[in-house]
Amino acid sequence: ERVDNPYEGAGVYVNPDWSANASAEPGGDAIADEPTAVWLDQISAIEGGSAGNSTGLREHLDNALVQAEGQDNFVFQVVIYNLPGRDCSALASNGELGPDELDRYQSEFIDPIAEIIGDPAYADLRIVTVIEIDSLPNLVTNVSPRETATPECDEMLANGNYVNGVAYALETLGAIENVYNYVDAGHYGWLGWDSNFTPSAELFAETVSTGGASADDVHGFIVNTANFGPTVEPHYTIDDTVNGTSVRESDWVDWNYYVDNQTFAQGFREELVSQGFSSDIGMLIDTSRSGWGGPDRPSGPGPETDVNAYVEGSRVDQRIHAGNWCNQTGAGIGERPEASPAEGIDAYVWVKPPGESDGSSEEIPNDEGKGFDRMCDPTYEGNPRNNNNPSGALADAPISGHWFSAQFQELLANAYPPL
Ligand code: BGC
Repeated sequence: ERVDNPYEGAGVYVNPDWSANASAEPGGDAIADEPTAVWLDQISAIEGGSAGNSTGLREHLDNALVQAEGQDNFVFQVVIYNLPGRDCSALASNGELGPDELDRYQSEFIDPIAEIIGDPAYADLRIVTVIEIDSLPNLVTNVSPRETATPECDEMLANGNYVNGVAYALETLGAIENVYNYVDAGHYGWLGWDSNFTPSAELFAETVSTGGASADDVHGFIVNTANFGPTVEPHYTIDDTVNGTSVRESDWVDWNYYVDNQTFAQGFREELVSQGFSSDIGMLIDTSRSGWGGPDRPSGPGPETDVNAYVEGSRVDQRIHAGNWCNQTGAGIGERPEASPAEGIDAYVWVKPPGESDGSSEEIPNDEGKGFDRMCDPTYEGNPRNNNNPSGALADAPISGHWFSAQFQELLANAYPPL
């Protein structure tokens, strides 16, 4: 029997691999005992031995049983991230499976995971799965005829393998009674525009009526996974106006209907319910790197001279553009993991392990299938997906998933709330 909110009254698994990296850093002990998710980002990660994931899934679950001792309830968080043709709009986390390898995704990835997770030995754990980030919304926003289209996303829309893969993962993992599936739902700076918002919710609804999946296989959705958007912009809201002009008309907001992830998550939850998902669904927000502290953080609203001055002076998000996603300069550790922080939100969680790179800042050959995305290159001037702005990425970054000490140090220094 699933509970409404698995995080309520529950301890959460601390990944020993990440924790060891964090505590080896100067100052890292301040956060090294926080729970972060385990990422299954390639078939070999199930057994263990891959970057950032040296421990295999079964060993993690056995560790979780030990950590759970003496606690009434315990959550284990795992990211399911290996779709065919993964990450079609970017190169840094292109995966190991080709666009047509749905069979391998099902039989060599999802089935073995389900077999381990479904072991009765783990039946008392609440297993939270984060399902396939950076996938379905790409089929709405990054396909032809939009200017933001990529050939890879066009292909994944045409061959149906994102939809089929996600449906298979939901159905297979959802059949296990103590699994709580949360589907990735992008973030406010991606799906907050009306052109993306309802079409994405419709695509999620279509996906759960594909194959043997159903809406009951979805416990909720997660936003901001591995991204940098603030949970709450404290000094302005989308309803503010300056001299009669809406902040929606400012360059930064650019007609978005949301200015932060929490209002977006709450609004998107309503939309998903209206598209047929249960009114009991809950949202998660990845807050691991959404803190924008440090000396440049505004302490109050900006001047009410015009909307641009007002928004520029108010916003805590210091990115150059809200479409920037790779190793962002100036970011900090965000809200600590917490159950039921706000209406409709099941928890703040740390899914992206802080200190793990989003992608290399120059090309680095590797055998993990990871490419070089210029959004991780600090000298890059951008593309239509970030409205042709500089990338804002830190220099000297290793490939995605690998430890990036300089970034970890900056995240600690700019934590908000402060550590
Ligand atoms: C990488 C994964 C890694 C994850 C967590 C992703 O960007 O592609 O390999 O496990 O980040 O750091």
